[in-house]
Amino acid sequence: MGAFASALLSLALAASAAAQSISVPRELPNLGKLRLELEAYHDCRGQYGCYAHDLDDETAMAIADLERAVRMNPSGVKLAVVLDIDETSLSNYAELLRSDFGYNAQAWDAWVRQSDAPAIPGTLRFYREAENLGVAVFFITGRPESERAATEANLRKAGFTQWARLTLRSASEAHTPTIAYKSAARQRIVTAGYRIVVNMGDQMSDLRGTPQAEFSVKLSDPFYYIP
Ligand SMILES: [Mg+2]
Repeated sequence: MGAFASALLSLALAASAAAQSISVPRELPNLGKLRLELEAYHDCRGQYGCYAHDLDDETAMAIADLERAVRMNPSGVKLAVVLDIDETSLSNYAELLRSDFGYNAQAWDAWVRQSDAPAIPGTLRFYREAENLGVAVFFITGRPESERAATEANLRKAGFTQWARLTLRSASEAHTPTIAYKSAARQRIVTAGYRIVVNMGDQMSDLRGTPQAEFSVKLSDPFYYIP
C-alpha cells in the first residue's frame, strides 16, 4: 500500500471510530430520568428504596421520641408536638404525579380545595399517640389563611380530628421566609407555656430556627423543595 492510500485508510478508520464514540459531557441530573426515579421510589420499585417504608421508619422514630419525652416529663408541664401538613401529615402524591412533579399555583390551589389528600399513615399513628398521651397537637403549615376551611376539612377527613391550633400564613406573612414564619409560630406555642417535644416536617425549613423542638424529625421528601 502506498503512503497516500495508507493515509486515506487511517483517516477512514479514525472517522469510523469517531462515529461510534459518544462524548458524555459533565451535566446536571436529567429531569426526565429523575421523574422516573421519583415514581420508582414512591412505588418501591428498583434501586431507589421505598418511600412508604422510609416514612414508616421515620415516624416510628418520632413516636419513640414522643414517648420518651412524656416519660421524662415532670408533672404539670404542658407538652406540645408540631406537625407540618403537606408531605408530613397529608400526602399530595396524587397531585404531584398528575402535574408531572411540576408546580402550578392554580392547579395546586384547586387540589387543596378538594380536601382529598390522604393521611401519611405513620404521622396519623404519631398523632393518635400524642392524643392518647394528652400532648397538644399544633399544625403549622405554609398554606395561606384562605385555605383554612379546605385544610381543616381535609385534616378531619384524613383522621386528624382535633388540634390545639392550626397556623396558616396570614396575608402579611405571605412573603416571610419559611424558617422565620415557622419559628415565630413555634415561639407563640412556647410563650403560651408549652414545651415542644417533637416537631415533624418534610423540609429542613420546617425544623430550623429558634425555638426548636427537643426532637426534630425530618421526613423523606425528594419531590419538591421549600427553602
Ligand atoms: Mg411539608
